[in-house]
Amino acid sequence: MAKTLRELRDIPITRLTGVTPRLEERLGMLGIHNVLDLIEHYPRRYLDRTKTSDIADLKVGEEATVYAEVRKMTARRTRQGRALVETIVYDGTSYLYVTFFNQPWRAQQLPTGTEAAFFGKLEHYRGKHQMTNPAVDVLGRIGEKTGVIVPIYPQSGKADVSTWQLQKLVTEALRRARELDDPVPPELLDRLGLVDRTRAYNGIHQPEVEADHFRAAHRLKFDEFLRMQLGLVARKRAFEEQRVGLTHRLDGPLVPAFHARLPFALTADQRKAIDEIGADLAGARPMHRLLQGEVGSGKTVVAVTALLGAVQSGYQGALMAPTEVLAEQHHGSIREMLAGLTVSSEGTLMGDRPVRVELLTNRTGAAGRRKLSAALAAGEVDIVVGTHALIYDSVAFPALGLAVIDEQHRFGVEQRALLRAKGPVGPDGEGPEPDVLVMTATPIPRTAAMLIYGDLDKSELREMPPGRTPITTEVIPPSPLERQAAYQRLRDQVATGRQAYVVCPLVEGSEKIEAKAATDEAVRLEAEELSGLRVGLLHGQMAPADKEDMMARFRAGQLEVLVATTVIEVGVDVPNATVMVIEDADRFGLSQLHQLRGRVGRGGGESWCFLFANPQTPEAEARMEAMVGRHPDGRPFDGFDLAEKDLEIRGAGEVFGERQAGFTDLKLGRIPRDEPVVLEARRVAEEILDADPGLAHHRQLAEEVEDLLGDDVEFLFKS
Ligand code: ADP
Ligand code: MG
Repeated sequence: MAKTLRELRDIPITRLTGVTPRLEERLGMLGIHNVLDLIEHYPRRYLDRTKTSDIADLKVGEEATVYAEVRKMTARRTRQGRALVETIVYDGTSYLYVTFFNQPWRAQQLPTGTEAAFFGKLEHYRGKHQMTNPAVDVLGRIGEKTGVIVPIYPQSGKADVSTWQLQKLVTEALRRARELDDPVPPELLDRLGLVDRTRAYNGIHQPEVEADHFRAAHRLKFDEFLRMQLGLVARKRAFEEQRVGLTHRLDGPLVPAFHARLPFALTADQRKAIDEIGADLAGARPMHRLLQGEVGSGKTVVAVTALLGAVQSGYQGALMAPTEVLAEQHHGSIREMLAGLTVSSEGTLMGDRPVRVELLTNRTGAAGRRKLSAALAAGEVDIVVGTHALIYDSVAFPALGLAVIDEQHRFGVEQRALLRAKGPVGPDGEGPEPDVLVMTATPIPRTAAMLIYGDLDKSELREMPPGRTPITTEVIPPSPLERQAAYQRLRDQVATGRQAYVVCPLVEGSEKIEAKAATDEAVRLEAEELSGLRVGLLHGQMAPADKEDMMARFRAGQLEVLVATTVIEVGVDVPNATVMVIEDADRFGLSQLHQLRGRVGRGGGESWCFLFANPQTPEAEARMEAMVGRHPDGRPFDGFDLAEKDLEIRGAGEVFGERQAGFTDLKLGRIPRDEPVVLEARRVAEEILDADPGLAHHRQLAEEVEDLLGDDVEFLFKS
């Protein structure tokens, strides 16, 4: 009988030949506990033995890979006390001296008889041909049968399981498993040009020709993405089909009144997003929509429009922010925006009353909560802005019609569900579901969004509101002359009445240490580069009142330069500021740099952002390049472009964190590289679920999705 992945998962690794308790422990360090773990421990790369060089042909000064056997190995210390491992290796054509300094573990790794690939430069030393400290992949032992293409497995320093040991175990596992049950029907595989599962697992571990492992990897990646997409599409459909939503209208009196009072015209993107949301709200199904747009793109107006739609339809709205500061800011600005608007209390004798917006955070006291609860119950509050407290607090929303979540990756699926559950409840304990709008300020590249928010519909604000002024960004190396020129630009701008920011480096350790460093830097700058200018200081350790005071003075123009830590990243809006210097810019992440830079170019005229940097790694270098990157037509990269770059540079796991379901389960798939595979998996998932919504005829796929996503999706496939 062909085996399923779940069956392989249930076979402990100790059932394979030669897995002693010691080996079991070391395999455990590689995350290998059962046969499925083992066959999903994929090779890191492959060594094509036809592409290695013969030692006899090597030329001094050239780099090459040789595949050879260790004939002699000695380990000792030099007179200076350095570890020295000397080997002589032989490949059938000639001998080569391979020497390692300061790598004492090579003695254990390369005992006589070991076969390994050595990659390095040939040197001529004291009349002998030698490689010093080459890269090494241990491949096997004399007598082990290996093909032309040799898989090289990821090693972990501590675990110390050699490639040949893994090869041996995988070979046995695949031989004993024989056929693997394929959850994808053969017609579909044919149409998609995919190899079957048995060939895929064999091809990735034991390719005979190069094409084998490419085709194998393609199939295995497809499976990874298919599982994720099945879960997401099924959840999306469950949202749409199994629940009853509320209907709201955006064409009532309140929304036009609100728009008429705005001091600006909506951008085309804002109008489009509002139309999309309006259509969702008017429909009977609950809305589950993601609104993406970088900081400053004008999401608030869109969200408030939606909230007013709920309010004018007789419901209450909630807006949830990730931090107290942001909740308070939203509360203040929304109150201001809505001041003077009235809502009619039809059916009551109260007539029209002002739209009422309240705040709920952890700082709200017990008395405040009681008052808010009572007012909500009486239908006197229209919109509540808050933090997590909105979900976890006992405050109930008897008429919750729309929840807006300003999330920045911080709310998970469960929390969205909890929030929905706060909505109106009927006598049977069930109730219509409130609509949900999720907003993210960090643009998420298309493919990534498909993985993280694949269960949501999407609207995008890509166009920034008018009034932005161009920002010239320059990377400034640690050259006194160039830095001087940057400070000169700052002084010139201040001389014309503009203002500037200097952002201090991130300091590891604590906010306290960072604050101290920023304080010292402010003092130094005042004495040196910025002497004679009115300089203020802002950091996270200051009391809220002092921060506000400092910001107020900067806003009022009493200060010319604000030296700050990244606390200015959020919410600081001073259009007159036109220069920003970011010290040690290479230590900041891309989205953070972009957010920081967004503090200038806000209408005060041409602006500059100087990135003081001395990148020490290829990644840091790539980040700096991205910050000054442009499209072929000259347009500078926007937040969406940078998000895409960030993903390329760091990889999805780093960008979105371990917490995001699915990413850690991607063993071969990478985004954005594998975007075509993701798109195909999405199409196939939709097609399969069209024909078989509960996966009743695709039990094995259902099983694999459940094993991937856990309890979270179990309810979807109960037949
Ligand atoms: P986000 O929440 O997306 O970061 P905001 O909603 O806070 O952005 O908007 C940023 C600024 O742009 C606010 O001052 C807002 O009043 C202004 N704004 C929003 N939409 C427009 C528009 N269509 N035209 C001009 N200014 C706008
Ligand atoms: Mg906002």
